[in-house]
Amino acid sequence: MLRDVDIKDIWDGRFYNAEDKVRVGCNACEGCSDCCRTTGDSIILDPYDLYQLTKGLGLTFTDMIEKQIEIRSVDGMILPNIMEHDEEHPEKEDGCPFLNEAGRCGIYQFRPGFCRLFPVGRYYTGEPERSFRYFVQKDECTKKDSPRHKVRLKDWLGIPQLGKYEAYITRWHYFLKDVSAGLKLMNEQSREQIARYVLQVFYVMPYQGQEDFYAQFDRRLNKVRAELLPGTER
Ligand code: SF4
Ligand code: SF4
Repeated sequence: MLRDVDIKDIWDGRFYNAEDKVRVGCNACEGCSDCCRTTGDSIILDPYDLYQLTKGLGLTFTDMIEKQIEIRSVDGMILPNIMEHDEEHPEKEDGCPFLNEAGRCGIYQFRPGFCRLFPVGRYYTGEPERSFRYFVQKDECTKKDSPRHKVRLKDWLGIPQLGKYEAYITRWHYFLKDVSAGLKLMNEQSREQIARYVLQVFYVMPYQGQEDFYAQFDRRLNKVRAELLPGTER
């Protein structure tokens, strides 16, 4: 989720890339699950998150909606986020529905990018570079007093084909930014139609498990860019 804050108030003073070592290691959280209990609606899913979740759980977007995920408006777009409680198990305390009874992540192997990063964040550079850097959010983890060891960022993330993933994340971020900017010039009905179309193309329409996700995503992105932002497709 984009945070409307001055980075100087929340970072450790430098930018990193995936090969750098960052002091975030907390010995697998050692029984703490604070940040999974206070997620609210902050875990916004990108299309790769949704692809991983549906593949890992053997469910579709439609199966999950209003059970583990919900949609809401973010800068004019309609995007899914993980719910802040377990709709299927109302007796459970509020918190991420994927947090299991042992206080561990029940979908660790295919948890969203937001969770993989934490407490690392992405800082988007904007124009003309259209890229991003990693930074450490210094006060986000509640275990402030426990010693932290250094971990190579790419190992912390544990995402296969990280170069492809980073390129995809960048394309997705700037696509949303471009569409969102265009929506501001439209009437409410057109805004809603386009936001729902983007949701349909990138989330509701299933991805084929046997084909590379990034190839499928690129095809969809090029098609939608050509339709909504002509001349900007790759
Ligand atoms: S608050 Fe920190 S130690 Fe606790 S679960 Fe989150 S990352 Fe781990
Ligand atoms: S998906 Fe897993 S790591 Fe992320 S908030 Fe939920 S339980 Fe925590």
